[in-house]
Amino acid sequence: MKSVAIVGAGIAGLTAAYDLTRQGYPTTVYEASPGIGGLASGFRAEGWEWSLERFYHHWFTSDHDVINLIRELGLEESLLFPRPITALWHNGGSYPLDSPVALLRFPHLGMVDKLRTGIVLAYLRVTRDWRRLERHTAHQWLSRFMGRRAYQVLWEPLLTGKFGEEHYRDVSMAWFWARIFKRSPRLGYFTGGFQAFADQLAGRVRDQGGDIRLSVPVHRIEQAGAEGFRVVTSAGTSAHDAVISTVPPGLMARLVPDLAADYLEQLGNLQSMGAVVLILALKQQLIPDIYWLNLPKGEFPFLALVEHTNYMSPQHYGGDHLVYLGDYLPSDHPYFQMTKEEIEDVFLKVLPRFNRSFDRSWVRESWLFRERYAQPVIPVNYSQRIPSVATPIPRLYFASMSQVYPWDRGTNYAVEMGRRVAAQLLEECTS
Ligand SMILES: Cc1cc2nc3c(=O)[nH]c(=O)nc-3n(C[C@H](O)[C@H](O)[C@H](O)COP(=O)(O)OP(=O)(O)OC[C@H]3O[C@@H](n4cnc5c(N)ncnc54)[C@H](O)[C@@H]3O)c2cc1C
Repeated sequence: MKSVAIVGAGIAGLTAAYDLTRQGYPTTVYEASPGIGGLASGFRAEGWEWSLERFYHHWFTSDHDVINLIRELGLEESLLFPRPITALWHNGGSYPLDSPVALLRFPHLGMVDKLRTGIVLAYLRVTRDWRRLERHTAHQWLSRFMGRRAYQVLWEPLLTGKFGEEHYRDVSMAWFWARIFKRSPRLGYFTGGFQAFADQLAGRVRDQGGDIRLSVPVHRIEQAGAEGFRVVTSAGTSAHDAVISTVPPGLMARLVPDLAADYLEQLGNLQSMGAVVLILALKQQLIPDIYWLNLPKGEFPFLALVEHTNYMSPQHYGGDHLVYLGDYLPSDHPYFQMTKEEIEDVFLKVLPRFNRSFDRSWVRESWLFRERYAQPVIPVNYSQRIPSVATPIPRLYFASMSQVYPWDRGTNYAVEMGRRVAAQLLEECTS
């Protein structure tokens, strides 16, 4: 092969580039934004030693693909796995709900509901038969087996919050199973932030001869007969023998209009939610101890309050207390049009409910991040709807979050998919 083009320097694109360059294949990564890391990228304010993700990020102890890659890079010592507290807000108070004991202590469910919930969760932790579960919606299956009350108190707020009124009743039970099956109480982080991990990975790609071109968006991927592909970018057109694209599905369809109609239709049928996150750098702690607080949608203008510095020490961030106020929303939601100040006005008003002394003067700085493609919506029988990573065009591959299944999307699966797609491409090109 003369060369491989990779579209996108997120974790999937960088991992594929790492494997290809390691095997000696000339690889060029085109990235539209000025930085690497994609959805997992971070930023560093003045005075911070570590960077912070634009969107809250952590790993689970079961995220073997990314943990193994970190080991392979010789960076195991940078992995941290503390056990922060995650909790649920209910009836004006927050309750940790991250262990069987915490569930037993939860005061807003009767003993029968708690036992039923415990048994169902234990079943979901051991069963591997997600194919049987994918035929059902989480909404129906959980109401039936956990009971309506437990479902309404514990899980319905999570599903409505993440997928909105429009989609939450359609989400597959396989998606819910994967969350329970894979999640661990200890949560993983990378010393210096996820950006530091992405930088290390990109550094290795460059050391192996890979070329990463930042601020070079790809406009089109065209077939060029036996020569392979013409990749049309803002910086000109380049010839490549094979292409791996890691952009969102809607954009993929626009970049390669030559794709077969049924593949384009599959791409067009995929649904997703966007994300809006306001980050606050506070002069003092907002909520004691709790890292992650799930909130009932409707009662609050956002879905999750994540106090990152109850997980990683404020000392890495010049003493700032860092809080994410985040939500998953359809991309036509007004939050995608409002200014940061407008969103801040709406969000900050409710913070005294978490800490009565909160005052706007606590806010040293704030940042707003928005992404329209942030969380795929996974309906029933999704295994039959996923577009394959090998597109109908030989040597053109597509790897996105929407093809992660049955697991919930995450950097671990971006690594897994990046490796899988690189291996498949090499096999196709050498057979
Ligand atoms: C709110 C939120 C919370 C999350 N929490 C976690 C978590 O706790 N743990 C976890 O592991 N994961 C989490 N994730 C998911 C994780 O970030 C993603 O699964 C992962 O980063 C996806 O990587 P990717 O490479 O597939 O895609 P992306 O990161 O989207 O990378 C695609 C890249 O393509 C680039 N691109 C787009 N268009 C073009 C173009 N035309 N030309 C060139 N380049 C282009 C983009 O700029 C981007 O860099 C979260 C995501 C969100 C949104």
